[in-house]
Amino acid sequence: MERLVILGGGESGVGTAILGKQKGFEVFVSDKGEIKKKYKDVLIHVGLEWEEGGHTEEKILNADLVMKSPGIPDKVPLVQKLVNKGIPVISEIEFASRYTGATIIAITGSNGKTTTTMLTYHILKQAGYDVGMAGNIGDSFAQMVAEGEKEYFVLEISSFQLDGITSFSPHIAMITNITPDHLDRYDNDFLKYVASKFRITMNQSSKDFFIYDADDDVIDAHLKKHPIQASKLPFSLHGEKQYGTFLKDKQFVIKTHEDTMELASDSLALEGQHNLKNTMAAITAAKLVGIRKETIRECIQNFQGAAHRLEKVLKIHHVQYINDSKATNVNATYYALDSMSTPTVWIVGGVDKGNDYKALMPLVREKVKAIICLGMDNEKLRQTFVNAVDIFVETYAMSEAVKVAYKIAERGDTVLLSPACASFDLFKNYEDRGNQFKEAIKNL
Ligand code: ADP
Repeated sequence: MERLVILGGGESGVGTAILGKQKGFEVFVSDKGEIKKKYKDVLIHVGLEWEEGGHTEEKILNADLVMKSPGIPDKVPLVQKLVNKGIPVISEIEFASRYTGATIIAITGSNGKTTTTMLTYHILKQAGYDVGMAGNIGDSFAQMVAEGEKEYFVLEISSFQLDGITSFSPHIAMITNITPDHLDRYDNDFLKYVASKFRITMNQSSKDFFIYDADDDVIDAHLKKHPIQASKLPFSLHGEKQYGTFLKDKQFVIKTHEDTMELASDSLALEGQHNLKNTMAAITAAKLVGIRKETIRECIQNFQGAAHRLEKVLKIHHVQYINDSKATNVNATYYALDSMSTPTVWIVGGVDKGNDYKALMPLVREKVKAIICLGMDNEKLRQTFVNAVDIFVETYAMSEAVKVAYKIAERGDTVLLSPACASFDLFKNYEDRGNQFKEAIKNL
């Protein structure tokens, strides 16, 4: 029996454990920290061997195959030892893909992954396709594969998952955009992070497709230097290329190698320029898998966006409150501010990830009437913006931030939570931050 060791007893670890057992591996799950109760219960229920609070090295170094959770960096000594011993260390996406014959649509990028994944899934589902959605979103891919075969999988994939692939080969791959993020895991080398994202296409053949943002200079520069096998279908807000998806006279034009589809681009469910791009990415994939124009059109109009992403919470005294807690980097917040059409009270701040806020300055000058900082350390925000707006306030609790926003905002304004930062100083995670925001609004 082949020995499969799983490092990390989280969503991807437990999914791999279940699938591994199903496929006849002798499975051992090892977690340096504590395994969450819900996952422990599953491991016990399925009857798998596991440990927590440390790694039994001799057992791990005896593995035939190791699946490492995306949260564990390659540099940790145990992983290095495995690699030096020649034991393959793969990601959950790689493992699961070995056990499905489904057509895979895989989506990566710095921002917009979840939105694009959900929209793509929504269209396929509404069209009546036998489709599952997995990856960084909801259930792990391995768990879904263990549950049964599907005709299609739409997967949201992080760069850490891509670092651990060897043969994973989606029929349709997408990169929504690439901006600096997670550089601590890539030796602070942006090009390494870019290369990691492009692994999504490394095993594709000429029968496969690669959908990407042609307006993104980083993607464009990489493609010029590193040609790929898959057929390229760029999307762009500006100008037309031979193939791909573009805007022309308020119509989406989707040009594949087979034919062209035109589709009205008004009344979209998702607002903002960035969502126009996410929509173009999703409809390109939908067209490639043969979905009818009417269905695509309906779906991009009735799609309910994901929570915490430019989520409209409530309107109070004609002031719209918007929760964009998932904006954990400057680029995401850029698009949030860009899509504001009324004077904005902006709640920003948290754990700085080496942010450079300068890119936001023109939008702040144009749209923001007040800044409310919400973080343990607001120094950088203060330095950058204190003179750019009339009102600059610092707070340390969500309830207070919302109360202050409520006082400042006038009829017709928007209150936007778009932090541009991680949430770990004051909150458990971005969901907790967004939920506290919504709760505070309801308590007004
Ligand atoms: P991801 O899964 O990649 O984090 P999400 O869809 O969850 O992406 O969106 C994360 C944040 O980025 C949200 O604040 C959202 O408004 C913003 N965003 C979504 N799509 C894009 C895009 N194409 N470009 C820039 N920002 C985006």
